[in-house]
Amino acid sequence: MENFNEEEHIFRSKFKPVQVPDDVTLPEFVLENAELYANKVAFVDGVSEKAMTYSEVVRDTKRLSKALRSLGLRKGNVVIVVLPNVVEYGVIALGIMAAGGVFSGANPASHVSEIKKQVDSADAKLIVTDSTIYDKVKALELPVIVLADEPIEEAMNYKKLLEAADRAGDDSAKEPIHQNDLCAMPFSSGTTGLSKGVMLTHRNLVANLCSTLFGVGQEMIGNVTTLGLIPFFHIYGITGICCATLRNKGKVVVMGRYDLKTFITALIKHEVNFAPIVPPIILGLVKNPIVDEFDLSKLKLQAIMTAAAPLAPEVLNAFKQKFPGVVVQEAYGLTEHSCITLTHAIKDAGVLHKNSVGFILPNLEVKFIDPDTGRSLPRNTPGEICVRSQCVMQGYYKQVDETAHTIDKDGWLHTGDVGYIDDEENIFIVDRIKELIKYKGFQVAPAELEAILLSHPSVEDAAVVPLPDEEAGEIPAASVVVSRGARVTEKEIMDYVASNAAHYKKVRVVHFVETIPKSPSGKIMRRLIKERMVKKMKTN
Ligand code: AMP
Repeated sequence: MENFNEEEHIFRSKFKPVQVPDDVTLPEFVLENAELYANKVAFVDGVSEKAMTYSEVVRDTKRLSKALRSLGLRKGNVVIVVLPNVVEYGVIALGIMAAGGVFSGANPASHVSEIKKQVDSADAKLIVTDSTIYDKVKALELPVIVLADEPIEEAMNYKKLLEAADRAGDDSAKEPIHQNDLCAMPFSSGTTGLSKGVMLTHRNLVANLCSTLFGVGQEMIGNVTTLGLIPFFHIYGITGICCATLRNKGKVVVMGRYDLKTFITALIKHEVNFAPIVPPIILGLVKNPIVDEFDLSKLKLQAIMTAAAPLAPEVLNAFKQKFPGVVVQEAYGLTEHSCITLTHAIKDAGVLHKNSVGFILPNLEVKFIDPDTGRSLPRNTPGEICVRSQCVMQGYYKQVDETAHTIDKDGWLHTGDVGYIDDEENIFIVDRIKELIKYKGFQVAPAELEAILLSHPSVEDAAVVPLPDEEAGEIPAASVVVSRGARVTEKEIMDYVASNAAHYKKVRVVHFVETIPKSPSGKIMRRLIKERMVKKMKTN
């Protein structure tokens, strides 16, 4: 509801506030009452059918926590997890947190230099990975735990560590863990610059789950089967999928990689009724002829959630036509706000006609500010979205200036997204003023690609901007100034970036230019560059 104070237009949720329990850790919160569901499957691999029950999740979370303590992990120490989605992933994240550690997921597709940057900037103490990725991380001079059937070289074996924990005595030196202790450090580039460690506490994530799950009725407890396809290293995967489903005592159908056929087969075989996905997958579902090879009447899907990037209205409509019984629940969130921030309650989503990203979640305050004056704006007026709640991160790890730039003195998180709220409390996202590029929902930081481009001997200056793309949402595109006298092709530049970054960060368009336009303070004028690139592509 609106505050009619002349100074500020602050909007609150149309839903009643929800209670957030005091001094509970995230593992305690999500595994509460797990003993009542001891034999129920919590995680099952969508392809191999390897499964873990709730009693195994509780047991292994404790065993891993004990094992990590015996290896010397202490409160606040960061553990980097470089894994695809596997059935053990949830236990690994919760085990790290239960030990007092800080879980930091890394994209398994990352280049070794990218993992090293994450390890260094988080001051990580340990890595958890699998046998297929081990070669990438072994040179990083940190102890490594490997999920593998057979022991590898000098790495520690996950299964053997858990077995050893059974034989070890109790850890009497363990420090108590409180709600305001850090438990997760995902990486995000925020509004500008390179990827940074986002400091999240148990309280942040528990508060986010309480707000997000407000619409879940008692009848849904124990009955939700969620698709676990969104990467678990991302906040949407670990909070929105793993933790939310464990809290509701549902089942997560884990998928380690995406291809449409395997995806639909798993949806049918495991009777998935809730699928959190991203717009490019929805596009595949409406456009790819493979879908028509399936008997879609066998689907038990009741709802999909789409988040992480904008969903085009045409795609939303095409989806509704093809899957008429499936509710589309849109959502908007960001790592710095512990995950989901705006969404429709499931019961409202069926009557959603407007392609808004949702309503304000309970307990949150939102305002829309004029980015130039900082003044908050009334309804129906687009401005930078700012949010204030218990889900706001503590800051970027060891980045005081970047933190001050993002969270103001009154506790408002400045999202870098532009939107407005209408008369029915629907919020619409209309623009993004931060530098971030979203390729298929994955974060790509222009500053990171610019640094790679500038390390090429023939590049004098470079700027990377997003260009719209039907399939990926956005693609990274580079304007490049070639050094005087140098001879280089666009393809050589693209190949150079591709060999130094994860595949989803590839620069997919290169234009050679005379200069990179910059403001008097030296800031790259990204909007102008983007306009020029779009224009040039239209005329070619
Ligand atoms: P991440 O921290 O990786 O989740 O990225 C957060 C950013 O993704 C937001 O600040 C938005 O720019 C974008 N985003 C997330 N959800 C949506 C959505 N539903 N529509 C448009 N953009 C979105």
